[in-house]
Amino acid sequence: MAPIPPTMKAVQISQNGGVEVLEYNEIPVPKVGEGQILVKNEYAGLNFIDTYFRSGLYKVPQFPQTLGREGAGEVIDAHSSVSSIPVGSRVVFMGTYGTYGEYSAVAASDAIIIPDSLSTDKAAAAYLQGLTAWTFIREAADVKAGQWVLVHAAAGGVGTLLVQMLRAIGAKTIGTASTEEKCALARKNGAGWTINSHDDVVAKVKEITGGHGADVIFDGVGKSTFDADIDLIAPKGHLVSFGNASGAVPPVNILRLTPKCIKLMRPVVSGYIADRASLEKYSAELFELITSGKVEILIHDVYPLKEVARAHQDIESRKTTGKLLIKL
Ligand code: NDP
Repeated sequence: MAPIPPTMKAVQISQNGGVEVLEYNEIPVPKVGEGQILVKNEYAGLNFIDTYFRSGLYKVPQFPQTLGREGAGEVIDAHSSVSSIPVGSRVVFMGTYGTYGEYSAVAASDAIIIPDSLSTDKAAAAYLQGLTAWTFIREAADVKAGQWVLVHAAAGGVGTLLVQMLRAIGAKTIGTASTEEKCALARKNGAGWTINSHDDVVAKVKEITGGHGADVIFDGVGKSTFDADIDLIAPKGHLVSFGNASGAVPPVNILRLTPKCIKLMRPVVSGYIADRASLEKYSAELFELITSGKVEILIHDVYPLKEVARAHQDIESRKTTGKLLIKL
């Protein structure tokens, strides 16, 4: 195994702003502390949330800050207190680690060994968005076979996984997307119906569902879709608002939920994998969905670390489908 160098390349921000604030820096390789492993990252997953931390919609703990919330690679060192994950293991992890960097010191309790049947790029591509989609289906909304489910941005990272998982459990899925090509991809992945988001989405959902509306809505688009969600949801429907791709949803008057007895929630994936047993359970279920062929991992592109700015531009300009990866 190659010796651990003193410094590494990382993409950081020292202020909030557009892609021009992304800096390609040389910084110290982190040292492992109690309970930690050192991972030589092979891939970092890019997520829309990375753009929120860059722009300032979400606050970073300090500047300079290395961006990136998930990574996968090889364990090359471990603190003497760690016995659960041997050096040499391939692992995937998510959390506040700053994975746009060549090495991450990760709590062993946050890392999961990648099964032999899964490649490192697919594990990295599947992990954060896959756990999001699966925990929201299973625990946030508890979707049942036969329910009408609406997925916004159905050809995006989380959306691509949601529609495939919903097909696997037998839901009747309607996907929205901004182009005909994206709608076709969502149908190929398991959406029974799609709606171009430039059309009258409320009217189309009513038409498709015979006036019933959507029993469950997964909405990661946020500001631009929230009002329509309230109009198109079925009585006693469940609105899972989980992102801000178009901007944050403004404060909501709770009385708007009354006429249809709407259940509204704003979950975060980390809340469903907060204890080790849940992390292991949902990770194993996610890997099984992939290795059994029920869910295909679609990688839009793999960007070199130096080109993180281009990756941010691509995801923000709605050009991408599926997952964006950074190669370290
Ligand atoms: P995506 O790959 O889905 O990219 C975002 C998509 O949103 C775009 O492709 C686009 O699809 C759609 N979109 C609609 N309006 C806009 C707009 N104004 N600007 C940009 N995109 C727009 O990203 P991710 O899969 O990484 O994330 C999807 C959502 O899920 C995000 O809001 C993210 O924050 C959220 N999320 C939340 C988590 C949680 O724990 N709460 C965890 C993970 C993700 P189209 O062109 O088809 O409309």
